[in-house]
Amino acid sequence: MYLRYVSLLFPLFFHEISGIPNEKPIIIIGAGPAGIAAATRLLENGIDNILILEAEPRIGGRIYSTKFGDTNVDMGAMWCHGQEGNIVWEKLVDMNLTDLVRSTQHPRTFHISSRKELGKDFEQKLYDIMMEILDSEQAEENESVGFAFGKMYNKSITEQFGNDREKLNYARAASKWLEHVTMSIEGSLSWYDSKSKTTYEECGGNQHLNWRGPGYKIFLDILMKKYPTGSNPLPIDDKILLSKEVTKVLWNPAATRNRVEIACADGSSYVASHVVFTPSLGVLKERGEEMFVPRLPERKMIAIKRVGMGAVMKVFLHYPRRWWRDEVAFNLVWDENDRKNVRNEFTQGPWMNGESWITRLYSIEMLEENPKVLLVWITGDVVPALENTDEKTLLSGIEFTLKKFLGHLYDIPKPDKVLRSNWYSNPHFRGSYSFQSLSSTDNNIPDLLEPLRTSNGSYIIQFAGEATSPTHFSTVQGAVESGYREADRLIGLYKYPLLINSLVH
Ligand SMILES: Cc1cc2nc3c(=O)[nH]c(=O)nc-3n(C[C@H](O)[C@H](O)[C@H](O)COP(=O)(O)OP(=O)(O)OC[C@H]3O[C@@H](n4cnc5c(N)ncnc54)[C@H](O)[C@@H]3O)c2cc1C
Repeated sequence: MYLRYVSLLFPLFFHEISGIPNEKPIIIIGAGPAGIAAATRLLENGIDNILILEAEPRIGGRIYSTKFGDTNVDMGAMWCHGQEGNIVWEKLVDMNLTDLVRSTQHPRTFHISSRKELGKDFEQKLYDIMMEILDSEQAEENESVGFAFGKMYNKSITEQFGNDREKLNYARAASKWLEHVTMSIEGSLSWYDSKSKTTYEECGGNQHLNWRGPGYKIFLDILMKKYPTGSNPLPIDDKILLSKEVTKVLWNPAATRNRVEIACADGSSYVASHVVFTPSLGVLKERGEEMFVPRLPERKMIAIKRVGMGAVMKVFLHYPRRWWRDEVAFNLVWDENDRKNVRNEFTQGPWMNGESWITRLYSIEMLEENPKVLLVWITGDVVPALENTDEKTLLSGIEFTLKKFLGHLYDIPKPDKVLRSNWYSNPHFRGSYSFQSLSSTDNNIPDLLEPLRTSNGSYIIQFAGEATSPTHFSTVQGAVESGYREADRLIGLYKYPLLINSLVH
């Protein structure tokens, strides 16, 4: 009965506090895809008294398309992964905008540091074995990806090349390429950290739909109805405050009235009835313990610890001229001897387990619409240290590697511009995307997303963001779904308070 009474007051409260500066019924923390999705859903449903606090001086979060060379490059998300049941793809289909993405090509051949040629047929066979393993669902419960894939790979290459020592050795060396590709999918720093059987559900169809010229950020414009031009843009710009790093979120679980106080690093503070918290799992791992007062519930703290967050690194190089031919990427395989000995040839660290960081460089991609730009991928244990390595060392290591693998085939000039990601070192991200670690359990993500409630059962602090998506974590579609999920809870609460609260009751 009491709940019904409170719920009747909700719409009143909604208007009552809206006129007071720094008080908003709904504050969204973070303007990445989850935060933007939540805000746009609320606006579309007539709930416009909202505020978004974003720590960075830009919106987009881990969607970060920025001008480099002739067009934009994506420092973060760059592909729409799949079509069936993918909210990103579905939006493009609904709006007749599928031309904004195109399929990425993958070369089925490898370059080896020893420059030895083993033949295209062999390389393609090797590539097929790897792709089969990446698609395989044969792993057992609680095996790490590294253990499961390593076992399958060794079995396959022994069956296929067991009687040819040279090919077998090459195939063994190539397992490191598989390891790095796996880590770029998982986002983990080691392929032994992530679980092979997870709750992730792949959206069927093309997994690598690459955004054309403008980059992934155009999808945010689509969400905000700023694109295509001529649509009716949602009134969101004046609701976003940039460079507003939230440091504390305070509330009183015993109070019957929804009230959350938010403190920011610049000394400002805000009050809300409802908060939607969207910063990454990396942020929660580093600061979740002290950011929330009172401390987050134990189940949520356990989930924050157990779900994994790693990092991948992208380095974009711009050249005065295009020096490659019609390749779409170079897949690099370090010969086992080179892997051990290259530290004597290229002497600038960081080192990982006695190996040079350049041995963690495994793929160099061409960007179709940016003809003078190469994208270098680096994954694994070296990423945190490498993000803090000076640009001169980074560039000379990449140049050394390019010459080692390709110097006999191309005249490689020096790049004239470089752009590098720092997702792990940036305190507003602390990693690239989440993964299900070996210690995680199936209830961790439900615990992560569970809202905090007042003593009368009303939502007060809600959690969105890719890591809270049980089936599409690590992706933009997961982030968007989570933003919609939390907005829908609020829409239910504000638009249909009697119905919602009678259900709670
Ligand atoms: C290198 C890289 C490649 C990727 N590739 C792909 C891909 O190809 N396809 C794909 O689908 N996904 C990809 N992803 C993952 C995808 O980018 C993320 O899943 C998605 O962007 C997460 O969105 P989010 O809103 O949950 O979090 P975020 O994008 O991290 O947004 C959270 C926002 O909160 C802000 N914030 C953090 N702390 C605070 C604070 N204290 N106060 C206020 N604001 C704060 C952040 O600045 C950020 O803007 C990639 C990510 C990276 C890093």
